[in-house]
Amino acid sequence: MPVKNRFAELQAEITAWRRDLHENPELLFDTHRTSGVVADKLRAFGCDEVVEGIGRTGVVGVIKGKAQSSGKVIGLRADMDALPITENTGVEYASKTPGAMHACGHDGHTAMLLGAAKYLSETRNFDGTVVVIFQPAEEGGGGGKVMCDDGMMDRWGIQEVYGMHNWPGQPLGSFAIRPGAFFAATDVFEVTIEGRGGHAAKPHETIDPTVTSATIVTALQSIASRNADPVSQIVVSITSFVTSSQAFNVIPARVTLRGTVRTLSAENRDLAEERINQLCTGIASAYNCSAKVEYTRNYPVMVNHDEQTAFAAEVAREVSGDCADAPLIMGGEDFAFMLEERPGAYILVGNGDTAMVHSPEYNFNDEAIPAGCSWWAGLAERRMPAA
Ligand SMILES: [Zn+2]
Ligand SMILES: [Zn+2]
Repeated sequence: MPVKNRFAELQAEITAWRRDLHENPELLFDTHRTSGVVADKLRAFGCDEVVEGIGRTGVVGVIKGKAQSSGKVIGLRADMDALPITENTGVEYASKTPGAMHACGHDGHTAMLLGAAKYLSETRNFDGTVVVIFQPAEEGGGGGKVMCDDGMMDRWGIQEVYGMHNWPGQPLGSFAIRPGAFFAATDVFEVTIEGRGGHAAKPHETIDPTVTSATIVTALQSIASRNADPVSQIVVSITSFVTSSQAFNVIPARVTLRGTVRTLSAENRDLAEERINQLCTGIASAYNCSAKVEYTRNYPVMVNHDEQTAFAAEVAREVSGDCADAPLIMGGEDFAFMLEERPGAYILVGNGDTAMVHSPEYNFNDEAIPAGCSWWAGLAERRMPAA
């Protein structure tokens, strides 16, 4: 089963959908136009059920196979939202919305899953039910979690879930996957260090929070280098250091630090939170300052399940001849929440030699469409073979 011929036929149509979505990017949960386009198409394809408003602006479509005697139900998920980036691709279908851009290829993901939905609705060559899931707010907002919290998995009896992301630098239309931890947990923290401001020429009359904060920034590097097991992966980055005064001759009263923590295990996640608290409060106290730490747990580690990963790789090999071992990725992925609720797997499809995702120069590669669509359709037909 290489690329399905039907997707070669549909490629121009799916490309047109993708470019229309690209031209009209929407952020977070505000995917009103996109969700409407998706729901209209699913209805036009003849899906058995199309429900909007799951997870605020998420859309769910149900496609029943020619038989349902297997009792199997699998969920196929795409994301729909764009990023707050000003596009710099120069393509004729570039974003018409200033400051918003499909810089992560979710336009391509949505178009490919729509293409698969069209094909599966036409052919129904499987024994079971396919639930296509279109989620908003992957780029922050946790739209996947909100769809789960709306009871999506139970409402449609979804037993397994699959997801796909395009990946720049990976050969066009090739696949890569890994079992177990794949994408990192993405937490953020903010630390407010209070001292006592005053004249910069009279530091002895102040309690200087900048020196305290600089010490904290340095000390936080010891979490990765001295506390975490060196064979595990962890990132602790300070990304913002803001003083309450910007004058040349004033010692500020307050410093606000912000940063992010990326981990691939629950142990390291707990460790990072605990050590950030200890180091910030301990060092602040040693310097006569106070520290308030707000640690926010965002997306959890995205963990691929072994059996579904092996199956997903098998289908990928049938489409592209091979399936590579994917690297660990320290970015986050909202699909983690769905994989916490149901077994499943997430795969990367090569976008070829393009700019990286989240770059203003990035563009989804339409030549990946036949491979991506074929993988989606292959999952359904192989997991739930028709008699
Ligand atoms: Zn992204
Ligand atoms: Zn993405």
